[in-house]
Parts: sequence; structure tokens; C-alpha cells
Amino acid sequence: MPTAFVTGAAGFIGSHLVDSLIDRGWTVRGIDNLSTGDRDNLSSVLDSERFEFVEGDICDSEVVSKLTNGVDHVFHQAAVASVPKSFETPRSTTETNCTGTATVVQAAVDNDVESVAVASSAAVYGSGGPLPKREDQSVSPESPYASSKRYTEQIARQVGGHGDVNVAALRYFNVYGPRQDPDGEYAAAIPKFIDLLLAGEAPVIFGDGEQTRDFVYVGDVVTANIEAALSNRTGVYNVATGESVTINELIDTLKTIIGMNVSPTHESPRTGDIRHSSASVSKAADELGFRADTSLEDGLTETVEGFRKT
Ligand code: NAD
Repeated sequence: MPTAFVTGAAGFIGSHLVDSLIDRGWTVRGIDNLSTGDRDNLSSVLDSERFEFVEGDICDSEVVSKLTNGVDHVFHQAAVASVPKSFETPRSTTETNCTGTATVVQAAVDNDVESVAVASSAAVYGSGGPLPKREDQSVSPESPYASSKRYTEQIARQVGGHGDVNVAALRYFNVYGPRQDPDGEYAAAIPKFIDLLLAGEAPVIFGDGEQTRDFVYVGDVVTANIEAALSNRTGVYNVATGESVTINELIDTLKTIIGMNVSPTHESPRTGDIRHSSASVSKAADELGFRADTSLEDGLTETVEGFRKT
């Protein structure tokens, strides 16, 4: 069975990835500095003898190199993962997302791993350009976060190529699922909406709610990472469903699942929010054999279940 090193292991996506790899019989090492992650996210694997967790920083080259030694695949999820936060903390965002990625990729090459999958983001495309977003169209990062993700893709592919490591840069669209943090000013929309609806309170929509997003379930994002690692491919891939919905449709679906008929309130649109987002998913399907097959209804039902349990 393969071995893996997962960065950001205690985060939302990283912890689901660790769970899935352990379920498949892999041996896994994880690192997280617990800045936004939570050790509780790893509660089902912390006792496994095939899992080792280190609380540490991805910019610490000594620790990262040690954890990468002897592994087959690296899954790099750790990052400052928020657009608004990146405007307020550009220095630490750049440090973690750029220097951190360089540290992880250098360790991967030094230790002759087979593959590195790095988490990038649809944010690299920016707000203009044709829809659906295709991997071969020009990018236009509009925030320190998006710029750092563009750098992540480039340095991973440049250094990985230099060392003969397969590198997949995965451009996640809007990921959702259980364990996504609903709290704080940088929280994503779906966990905030669920938290409020479960409490019988009105969700807040920025703008008229007719903006569209491609929401992809975390289980499908995990699958994309594993398929990328096992594919022997190098490239940039969108990770999305290929089907976008409006925020109003999303809220209606959540109201039905939760059984709560509360009308949302509307506030002015946030600066920098893009109006429409949709993804071409054919490259990931053709080259990685990846398709996000969780329907929005099923994914949201799982997510609501997860929130009810916590
Ligand atoms: P998250 O904040 O839950 O996970 C990031 C993890 O990285 C956290 O556990 C955090 O503690 C850890 N971390 C941060 N800085 C670190 C450092 N210096 N050293 C070690 N660990 C560190 O966010 P997430 O949603 O799980 O995001 C995972 C990845 O996916 C990120 O790279 C993010 O940019 C990317 N992404 C997420 C989405 C989404 O919709 N959630 C969309 C596009 C891209």
C-alpha cells in the first residue's frame, strides 16, 4: 500500500483526505500548525498505527523534509485559505502559501516522491474572461490569495518537473462538506447558511442572490486528489461539478433539507465578489478520469447531518 504526506491535515479538506487514505489502507503522515485546523477533525484516525500527526509549520524545512522522507505521494493542502484575510495579512499569506509551497515541493523532489498534488483555486481565474473557465485560458489573480495560488501552481510544476516528480495543480471551485468552519469573519457561505438555518435564523446573502457558483462536495475533492496522485499526470485541473447554481437556489435547497422556512436577508454585494463562476470539467475527466458525482442535494444532506452531530 502507498504512503502519503498530507499538509494541512487537520483542516477541512486535509482531514477528509487523511480519513479516506487511511480507509483505503495507506500509511499517512500529516502536518498542521492548527492555525485554522482542529485536532478534533482527526479524531477517527489519531489512534491508527498507520497515521502520524505532527503539529508544525510547512515553512520548517527540517520537519517537512523528515516527514516527506520515504513517502510515495504528497498532498499539499495547507494554506492561508481566505481571500478577504489575504488582503489583511498579505505578508503571512505569502509566507505560508508561497514559501510553504516551495518548502514542501523542495522536500518532495529531494526525497524522490512519485507525485505531488497541490491545492490551487478557481480564484486564479479572476472575475473576467469567458465561461466556463478552462484550464488553458489566461488567468488574472485579483487578491494576494489568488496570486499565491498562482505561484503555488507554478513553483510546484517548475520544481517538480526539474526533479521528475508528477505535479497536479488542482483548481478547486467552491468546496463544501462536513467540518467546514461556520465561524468567524472569513467563513465560507454554506457552513454559515447551515448554522443559521439550524438555529432558525435568517441567512444573509450579499447582493441579490442571483450570482452563481460551482459547489463541489469535499468527498469528490478527495477523490480528485487521489486520482491525480495515481494518474502519473502533470498538469493543471479544475475540480468542480461543471454545474453552477445561484445562491438563491442553494438557500432553497438547504431550507428544504433542514425543514426550516426562513427567508434570507440581503446586504450589499461584497467588494471583489465575482458575479458568475462555472467550470469546464472535461480535462480532469479525460486525463484523470475524475468526475464529481455527488449531487448538490446529496452533498448538502451529508453536510447538514455532519453539522447536526457537532
Ligand atoms: P482550512 O483552513 O480548513 O485548511 C488549511 C489547513 O492548513 C488548516 O488546518 C491550517 O491550520 C493549516 N495551515 C495553515 N498554515 C499552515 C502552516 N504554515 N503550516 C502548517 N499548517 C498550516 O481550509 P480548506 O478549505 O481545507 O483548504 C485546504 C486547501 O484548499 C487550501 O490550500 C485552500 O487554499 C484550498 N482551497 C479551498 C477551497 C474551499 O472552498 N474550501 C477552494 C479553493 C481552494
